[in-house]
Amino acid sequence: MNILVLNCGSSSLKYKLFEMTTYEVLAKGQADRIGLPGALFTHETPGLAPVQCETPLADHAAAVSALLTHLADARQGIPADRSDIAGVGHRVVHGGEHFRSSVVVDPAVRGLLEKTKALAPLHNPPNLMGIDVCARLMPDVPQVAVFDTAFHQTMEPRAFTYAIPYRYYAEDAVRRYGFHGTSHRYVAARTAELLAGRSGDPRIITCHLGAGSSLCAVAKGKSRDTSMGFTPLSGLVMGTRSGDLDPAVVSFLMEKERCSIAEALDILNRQSGVFGISGVSPDFRDLEQEAARGHERARLALDVFAYSAARGIASLIPAAGGLDALAFTAGIGENSPVMRLRICAYFSWLGLKLDEDKNNAGGEGDIAAGESAVRVFVVPTDEEKMIARETEAVLKK
Ligand code: ADP
Repeated sequence: MNILVLNCGSSSLKYKLFEMTTYEVLAKGQADRIGLPGALFTHETPGLAPVQCETPLADHAAAVSALLTHLADARQGIPADRSDIAGVGHRVVHGGEHFRSSVVVDPAVRGLLEKTKALAPLHNPPNLMGIDVCARLMPDVPQVAVFDTAFHQTMEPRAFTYAIPYRYYAEDAVRRYGFHGTSHRYVAARTAELLAGRSGDPRIITCHLGAGSSLCAVAKGKSRDTSMGFTPLSGLVMGTRSGDLDPAVVSFLMEKERCSIAEALDILNRQSGVFGISGVSPDFRDLEQEAARGHERARLALDVFAYSAARGIASLIPAAGGLDALAFTAGIGENSPVMRLRICAYFSWLGLKLDEDKNNAGGEGDIAAGESAVRVFVVPTDEEKMIARETEAVLKK
């Protein structure tokens, strides 16, 4: 069975075609600058040179047509026409309160999805456009929506309710939702497997640390609380996002810069985080390099990030009901032993201790010292593969 995974942004589209017995990626690619001058389409098949086309892509339909043409092109090694695709899994950022798991998109679901647009005005409209375009171009292929928020729908009201007048929740569904759910769900399940029954129902905090970062408290396999909120702007300090701050800072920025609310939010989304603090880069490899050379603000940015993660982990312990294991994933979580060490150092009082060699080894596994009171794992995540697996599971139901 082949599953196509699609992630549609406002002017971009990324895709991967998976063969589902081995999870082999048969082809992948992306379209950038859709609807803009200088559109670029890249398609890659393993073992062959990537194909790049600078043809205009008027809209997402043009981009999906281009991808179907490339997939069906026998010269590219994988003649996969529409009938070879069992389903398309779409990443949908926000499922609101309607969706607790992945679903096949039928007209009723499509109607409910429409209502989620207001909750994620930047992300959901292009995600839904991807679904509509594929439904039109591949009418016989089922479309499945996989939500970043779904895993967190098990949070209790005490964890998701914001302390603002209740009518904003009752009428407008303003509450904590949380994101990166597909990743947290996979990493928590894999961590429980790696613990191999060492603690009956393990209490786990999963740490998805990448360009966007979030934490999730998991107990009995369910998300109990998470660091992101109504949008993916809150929680930890991130590459370019501020994470949590006093909301009064927003009105201060607006007055100081004489700017609109949209511009103030742009400062918090794109000019903040470790990039904003350091003035150097949102990329932790650059920051670690600059910090080693003595760049004070790069050092400060890394310090703030590590502390923000540790503080976030500590704040989730009540939700998990204790702590049996921490699990690190995503770009930084998987690849930066230094950052894992810095974060874990805040929990030495708890008897948490890393094994230096295992922490530096790379790959999946337990990196805690034998005597550590809390286990620590690295679990590589792969959101596209998870979306493909979710899609397959939904189609088999
Ligand atoms: P996303 O999927 O959200 O775009 P990723 O999970 O791929 O992000 O994470 C990307 C980030 O991971 C990069 O911005 C970089 O900061 C960090 N990263 C990747 N490799 C390393 C590394 N070897 N050391 C430190 N940080 C790394």
